[in-house]
Amino acid sequence: MLSNAQIEVAIIGGGIAGVTAALGLLRRGISVKVYERASGFREIGAGIGLSPNAERAMLLLNPDIHAVFKRLATPNTEDWFQYVDGFNRSQQGDGEDLLFKVYLGERGFEGCRRTDFLDELVSLLPAGCVEFRKELVDITEPEDETSPVALYFADGSMAYADAVLGCDGLRSRVREYILGVDHPAVEPSYTHKFAYRGVIPMKDAIQAIGEGKALTRYMHLGPECHVLTFPVSMSTMLNVVAFVTDPNEWPSLDQTTLPATREEVLESFRNFGPVVTAIMNLLDQRLDKWGIFDLQESPVASYVSPRGCVCLVGDAAHAAAPHHGAGAGSAIEDALALAVGLEEAVKILTAGLESISRRKVISAAFAAYECTRYDRTQWIIESSRFMGELFEWQAAGFERDPDKCHSEVEWRSHKIWDYDVENMIKEVRESFVTKVSESVGETV
Ligand SMILES: Cc1cc2nc3c(=O)[nH]c(=O)nc-3n(C[C@H](O)[C@H](O)[C@H](O)COP(=O)(O)OP(=O)(O)OC[C@H]3O[C@@H](n4cnc5c(N)ncnc54)[C@H](O)[C@@H]3O)c2cc1C
Repeated sequence: MLSNAQIEVAIIGGGIAGVTAALGLLRRGISVKVYERASGFREIGAGIGLSPNAERAMLLLNPDIHAVFKRLATPNTEDWFQYVDGFNRSQQGDGEDLLFKVYLGERGFEGCRRTDFLDELVSLLPAGCVEFRKELVDITEPEDETSPVALYFADGSMAYADAVLGCDGLRSRVREYILGVDHPAVEPSYTHKFAYRGVIPMKDAIQAIGEGKALTRYMHLGPECHVLTFPVSMSTMLNVVAFVTDPNEWPSLDQTTLPATREEVLESFRNFGPVVTAIMNLLDQRLDKWGIFDLQESPVASYVSPRGCVCLVGDAAHAAAPHHGAGAGSAIEDALALAVGLEEAVKILTAGLESISRRKVISAAFAAYECTRYDRTQWIIESSRFMGELFEWQAAGFERDPDKCHSEVEWRSHKIWDYDVENMIKEVRESFVTKVSESVGETV
């Protein structure tokens, strides 16, 4: 039985946003239940890179998250992110194809396998904290401030919570609840790019493209297609994300991932140079291709429900194309902002001020979260699309000009990597005080 000062939080979705938010809230003594529609936690086998800002957020959210990442992360062999001309005809390792490079900073931008990361994070959650096969279908937030939020699941069951975090990804049901079923942002937009994803054994990669190219992070640029490669699994595997511009519509309304073959990839990259071709030849015969969707064309106007107790986190709020490699990192920043806001809410409830209801402090915490996170996360959506164009020589005024592309990639990347996470926490706290004051009409 919870005391009056406690808050019961329901998290919808057990991806990186949901699991890191749960770990951050538990660390602050806040009660959490995760509802996941799948029968277990699952991530695809491909790699994920987490930038320095994400590392700083992990440390402050829950240092155990950061410890897991550091245990799994494969260090790059260089402190530079290198951008090369994928069309260049030179052979491996002669450096002729280098267009420009961007300094990563001390902590680098390291990669690990997504499955390993999520599995280890999940092992930190206490027993009973997660319910599987719970697909959220509806939510009600009663007008009466003393009643909890009701959650309805596809299996006919229900649950109650004081606060709900919608961490249910790109096609979020919680977003549909907040915006209304007819809102254009309920459906994400196809960016007219898709990505083939795979991992290849590092020994084969080194043989084919040389140690220099295989053991650190590279972006191979070219017209209408580009490829990101970086080492994962302690440099035993090379992660490959091969993006292709697609003039057509994505062929499936409900599937973001479709089967593909190596021949299709080779066909898409047929005009690229020998390094890219060698990488593609090492991919598995059967692959997945991922449609790249985002929320740019119809942005979500508010991350918080009108009654204030339900909010959106991670891709559910601000799904972006992955060209900055910033989606999971910004979900972790979100989780930190929310954990800080809800911790402040619990402090107020513990102080026992009678004029402040549980709903008001939760609403204030969510409003502070939105106020602090909205502009940055919306900018990441826009900038990610732009980076995708720049990497495929489609950006008007930049095309194949390496100097112009360099300065653009540099400032945009550092805007993400150098984010002052400590200052974000300060902003959440200050904004929370303002929001609580506004909502109760007195200074707290
Ligand atoms: C090709 C590609 C490469 C990427 N590379 C990077 C990278 O290198 N670095 C980086 O930071 N980001 C990267 N990203 C972005 C990153 O993958 C996402 O931003 C991140 O995984 C989002 O996490 P999430 O928890 O918000 O959503 P998800 O991972 O989508 O998790 C949502 C969860 O909610 C569950 N769910 C959905 N609906 C319901 C429901 N109704 N009820 C209950 N549960 C539900 C789902 O089953 C799922 O488990 C990449 C993305 C792509 C497509």
